[in-house]
Amino acid sequence: MAARITDLIARKRDGGELSAAEIAAMVAPDVPDYQLSAFLMAVVLRGLSDDETRGLLDAMVASGQRVSWPWPVADKHSTGGVGDSTTLVLAPLLAACGVLVAKMSGRGLGHTGGTLDKLEAIPGMRVSLSLPGMRRQVEQVGVAVCGQTPELAPADGRLYALRDATGTVYSLPLIAASIMSKKVAAGASRLLLDVKVGEGALLPDPDAARRLAGLMVRLGRDHDIDTRALLSNMSEPLGAAVGDALEVAEALDTLRGDGPADITELCVHQAKVLAGDEAVVRRALDSGAAYECYQRWVAAQGGDPEAPLPRAPLVIEVPAPRSGVVQRCHARSIGEQVMRLGAGRATKEDSVDHAVGVLVHRKRGDHVEAGEPLATVHARGEADLDAVAACFEIGDAPAEREPLLLGDVDA
Ligand code: URA
Repeated sequence: MAARITDLIARKRDGGELSAAEIAAMVAPDVPDYQLSAFLMAVVLRGLSDDETRGLLDAMVASGQRVSWPWPVADKHSTGGVGDSTTLVLAPLLAACGVLVAKMSGRGLGHTGGTLDKLEAIPGMRVSLSLPGMRRQVEQVGVAVCGQTPELAPADGRLYALRDATGTVYSLPLIAASIMSKKVAAGASRLLLDVKVGEGALLPDPDAARRLAGLMVRLGRDHDIDTRALLSNMSEPLGAAVGDALEVAEALDTLRGDGPADITELCVHQAKVLAGDEAVVRRALDSGAAYECYQRWVAAQGGDPEAPLPRAPLVIEVPAPRSGVVQRCHARSIGEQVMRLGAGRATKEDSVDHAVGVLVHRKRGDHVEAGEPLATVHARGEADLDAVAACFEIGDAPAEREPLLLGDVDA
């Protein structure tokens, strides 16, 4: 067996193609980490064909259970960004439109936040649900959002940990197979992929993001999931809040019809794609039905929707160093500053500080006078205000806001 695995690695290293059975043998549990790591690096350097990617996805799905729901359920996946709290709005909004939502979310990665961390900022909220518990909740409340269960696509968990440790995360087929293995295993019948583009995104390059989106749409449709994908702008943070509790508060404002224009636009667009009718979506938001769904959902997972959210002891304004027009509020640097305040983790086991974060007051195109606040930092101890100010570029030229929605992507 050892020799055969070595041959497979060598074939991929030399740019050859592996069959689905060979890919399955390659990612089997008995293959040692060092061989799997070498294979992953060969994939990063040589790529995978669509057939090989399908083989990898199927092997990862086959490594665990596959959920089958008695009703159609919807899911949305964002490739990750800064200030992206859309799941907290979209999930109850869809439920209020009569679309059942069963969603497995992740934790923060690098400079990007994670939905599970945001949900855990809500006092009492549980994000670990069993599959039967999730099913009961979807039936009773219409929405359940929880962490990945170890029964679903466990091979992806192993591969992802190795990729993280071996510099092999950035590969379109590996990312696509990883994301879609969890979607196929979790049994979604309708899926919207929000592929972020711009410097705050996993793949900043629009061409790479478009190719990733197209590949995931093809993989989803191969598995009879009604899969759509859109590209959305992540060159600046979404909304104003970056940090778990701050983002929960902002999502609540959005559900009450008082959220930032960009989050509202993105959530309404996503809900329209998944629910089919913008008038129904607007009614669910404007009538308060989506907000009521949020309360029922949070209560069902043990959370107290009315409890005060954690608040950091230090709240400090960051003044603009000069007057002018904001040319850019750099999403990635804001995300990195928020991680530095304590919202990020260096290892998967680290705990995060839900209270810390940054509220952004000015974005591209906004005028600011010297000394006016560019942002407010919520910190537990010392904060590097200069580093936060450096996330903003101020100039004299007028600047136009960039569009948020950058188009749909088909297979
Ligand atoms: N998210 C995933 O689930 N997998 C990847 O490979 C990258 C982002």
